Amino acid sequence: MSRIVYVNGEFLPEEEAKISVFDRGFLFADGIYEVSTVIKGKMIDNAAHMARLRRSMNELNMPSPASDEEITEIQAELLVQNNIENGLIYLQITRGAADRDFVFPKEPKPSLVMFTQVLDAVGNPKAERGISVITVDDVRWKRRDIKTVALLAQSMAKQAAVDAGADDAWMVEDGFITEGTSNNAFIITKDDKIITRNLSNDILHGITRQVVLELAAEKSLVVEERPFTLEEALDAKEAFVTSATAFVMPVVRINEQPLGNGGPGILSSQLRAMYIKRAMEA
Ligand code: PMP
Repeated sequence: MSRIVYVNGEFLPEEEAKISVFDRGFLFADGIYEVSTVIKGKMIDNAAHMARLRRSMNELNMPSPASDEEITEIQAELLVQNNIENGLIYLQITRGAADRDFVFPKEPKPSLVMFTQVLDAVGNPKAERGISVITVDDVRWKRRDIKTVALLAQSMAKQAAVDAGADDAWMVEDGFITEGTSNNAFIITKDDKIITRNLSNDILHGITRQVVLELAAEKSLVVEERPFTLEEALDAKEAFVTSATAFVMPVVRINEQPLGNGGPGILSSQLRAMYIKRAMEA
């Protein structure tokens, strides 16, 4: 049975779903997206994802195709239609189809698309051994706080990582780590301080990042939100990344240099366990 996707008011088999060649998401990357993870049929932190979606739309002056309630209802229906127990739901809004013009259309007809994927985020085998990252120059635009579909720089960075035999890339600007290709970057110093870059237009304001900072506070861990250098990262005891689908994922090698004992760090693993417990209980 083929997957059912949602396109502008219709639930259709994926082969039948259509988007215009004039869609501005396609022509200008004039679109934004959100990904919510699903555990046991329930979306994790979906309200926070909705709030960030609204923020992205506001920053781009993008009209809304549906209310939060309508979007949430469509998400729920799509999960049922595809029988998703454990997976993710992707949603994308673009400014819609219009004759190709750099200026925004006067009467935009925004487009709303959603699809699901099966994924066992809790049982991800990578969490057992941790991931390796390389560092690459951060060549992205300056509004990384907006979750746009303009992901080519991240795609190139991730490809460079895979070509180098690594799992992912951390992007570096002026000597400081900004974030991972699709996740926020954290290090833990030898004196157990958790350091992650402060929120600004330089990084995406990760929903998982925020939850993990709350969990760290619950555990009375010391957190510093500030930029950190590649040198500090190489000198760290532990490192990890956070995202909706990776949760807390230990980083065990940076530019081929092992951190700590070369395996997932103790605090990183504890934070992952705490995150999963919270998600399962939600
Ligand atoms: N940074 C970037 C560049 C990302 O693409 C993502 C995930 N889309 C994140 C951070 C993590 O955000 P979240 O925890 O909300 O998934």
